[in-house]
Amino acid sequence: ALMITDECINCDVCEPECPNDAIYMGLEIYEINPDKCTECVGHYDAPQCRQVCPVDCIPFNPQYTESQEQLMAKYKLITASK
Ligand code: SF4
Ligand code: SF4
Repeated sequence: ALMITDECINCDVCEPECPNDAIYMGLEIYEINPDKCTECVGHYDAPQCRQVCPVDCIPFNPQYTESQEQLMAKYKLITASK
C-alpha cells in the first residue's frame, strides 16, 4: 500500500482518482486506508494518486510492503465484496 505524508497540501486531486476508494480526508490531511490500497494493481499500470499529486507526497507505506500477488489477491477480495 501507499501512504500520504504530512507534505500533503489537501489539494483534493488524488481522492477521486482512486479506483478503490482508499483515499479519504483525515483529521488534518488526506490519508490512505492500507486495507483498500492495491497500489492500483488490477486497475492500472501505475498508482493513479501518485501520478496526479502535485507535491509528490505519496510513497510506499513501509508498514505495508506487499508483493504483486498479495496486491492482486487484495484487489480480488475488494472487487468480490462490491
Ligand atoms: Fe488508490 Fe491506487 Fe493510490 Fe492506492 S495507489 S491509494 S489504490 S489510487
Ligand atoms: Fe495531498 Fe497529494 Fe492528494 Fe493533493 S494529491 S490531496 S497533495 S496527497
